[in-house]
Amino acid sequence: MDSVEKLINLFKKFPTVGSRTAGRFVYYLMKLPKARVDELISAILEVKNKIKLCENCFNPFEPFDSAQGKLCLICQNPARNKNLLCVVEKETDLLSLENTKKYSGLYFILGGTIATMRPEETSQLRIEQLKKRISISNFSEIIVALNSTPEGRTTSVLVEQIIREVWQATKTEGSEPNRRITHLARGIPVGGELEYADEETLESALEGRK
Ligand SMILES: [Zn+2]
Repeated sequence: MDSVEKLINLFKKFPTVGSRTAGRFVYYLMKLPKARVDELISAILEVKNKIKLCENCFNPFEPFDSAQGKLCLICQNPARNKNLLCVVEKETDLLSLENTKKYSGLYFILGGTIATMRPEETSQLRIEQLKKRISISNFSEIIVALNSTPEGRTTSVLVEQIIREVWQATKTEGSEPNRRITHLARGIPVGGELEYADEETLESALEGRK
């Protein structure tokens, strides 16, 4: 494999990038001055070295000092509602919901959906981490906000099953805690993805959840 082919294959692994786009990236890079390529390489390494994954929600964040610890700013914010959790597929979905400024609870980034996972990525679906998070927390509502694509819906079913199992297992004798699982209201087009919904649509989907 020559060096061009090798780089094209690496870019092809990026989300939404196919062979043609990967090829364009490589030819674009070839025309760049060496200094710009060095800048790109060091920016990639900087992200890789500085960004940590939040231990609670798996949101990537850049700790501003070593004292910030292992949690992102959302999880550290005392004003956030600790009884409300929103399970999303990916980081960009969290960003879309944050941009509405209408959600004050916490998040959990699942890391993908079942059917879209390439085999080598299947282990990245954070099922065990989700179980742990729910079992050590005291959520009264969990919003399953996965995309309304076929893969998203299949994954939703699995996620709900897990939530119920954990809640059942952690139920204390004789008490019937008031807990519920909700979904974003319709408005997100069927087959649509959260990250492409505009803020208003997302806002009303969030407010009308049931
Ligand atoms: Zn977090």
